[in-house]
Amino acid sequence: MPLYTSYPKDEYTLLKKPIQQAIQRVLDSGIYVLGKEVASFEQDFAHYSGLQYAIGVGNGTDALFLSLKALEIGPGDEVITTPMTAAYSAFSVVYAGATPVFVDVHPDTFEIDETQLERAITKRTKAIIPVHLFGQPCNIVAIMKVAKRHKLKVIEDCCQAHGAMVGKRRVGTFGDLACYSFYPTKNLGGIGDGGAVLTNNKGLAAKIRLLHNGHQTSKYYHTAVGHNTRLDELQAAILRVKLGHLDQFIAKRQQVAAWYDAWLDGTTVTKPVVTKGVRHVYHLYVVRSKQRDRLQQTLAKAGIITQVHYPWPLHKLPAFDFLEKTYRLPHSELISQQALSLPMYPGLTRANVRQICKIVNQ
Ligand SMILES: *Cc1c(COP(=O)(O)O)cnc(C)c1O
Repeated sequence: MPLYTSYPKDEYTLLKKPIQQAIQRVLDSGIYVLGKEVASFEQDFAHYSGLQYAIGVGNGTDALFLSLKALEIGPGDEVITTPMTAAYSAFSVVYAGATPVFVDVHPDTFEIDETQLERAITKRTKAIIPVHLFGQPCNIVAIMKVAKRHKLKVIEDCCQAHGAMVGKRRVGTFGDLACYSFYPTKNLGGIGDGGAVLTNNKGLAAKIRLLHNGHQTSKYYHTAVGHNTRLDELQAAILRVKLGHLDQFIAKRQQVAAWYDAWLDGTTVTKPVVTKGVRHVYHLYVVRSKQRDRLQQTLAKAGIITQVHYPWPLHKLPAFDFLEKTYRLPHSELISQQALSLPMYPGLTRANVRQICKIVNQ
């Protein structure tokens, strides 16, 4: 029984009919970019996410990049983020011409450590990009307090946290802007790349809308150098179908996590720690093991494919060698050697999870 951590085909099989209808509808419409599907999806997803405005863009990385541009963050500015994330969270800062600054994470939740933010703030700091990692909200309430105190902007990286909540409030509704990715393996994923920026700020929404489509105020009238990064009609039509099932898929992920929590005996691995009062949407189920590589090999021999998120904290990647600052971020460094993402997707059965736990416990 090979088990893959990539499940997009699973979801397609389940929703084959409505997805095929959506695709046919787009093909027949003759409009493939910036049409009704994108407009409808933007409205639906904004509503779902508890925010007023949504702008579909090409991917999650561009969502972050355009957010920084809209906030006029650029050369000479610093943006604080976590080293325990997809490199794209910090690449977006580099694209904008600004400098990423890394702050270590909590050793138990792997989320950015809000108590270390203030030490990283300088005169150049303009913004924070907190990441809601693996589907669990970071301590965004505390982060907002620090941001307010130092007049910093906050761009929430929600690329792994569609539908996650802090109390009764969605992630993404705390900061100035929220960025989402619809990469196929995300909790809400298309059949290609896609992303969105969400906000309650009318002015910022208008800026992003201009920026993502060449900065045209009317057709072919470009009032500044804009970008070309749009969500296409096909992805939007498919995402509309999938959005209708997102909560049901999240519930399945939570069930899978509950099985893992119950059946992993906790001697060979440390189970994920969930913060009180949050809705964790389990984009990933990440355990820790002192013998991570051995465990991964053993599971692979049994046909169980696992992944490591992330094998390198960002400050250890050659891509960021150009940063002059040298970092010692011990929690991130240790986690990158111990973290293992067990299979996590809505289609996993009770029997699958039982088998995985049995092998892990041995
Ligand atoms: C996936 C992801 C991104 C980038 O999204 P893309 O759509 O792949 O560009 C950024 N940040 C995080 C935390 C992600 O998981």
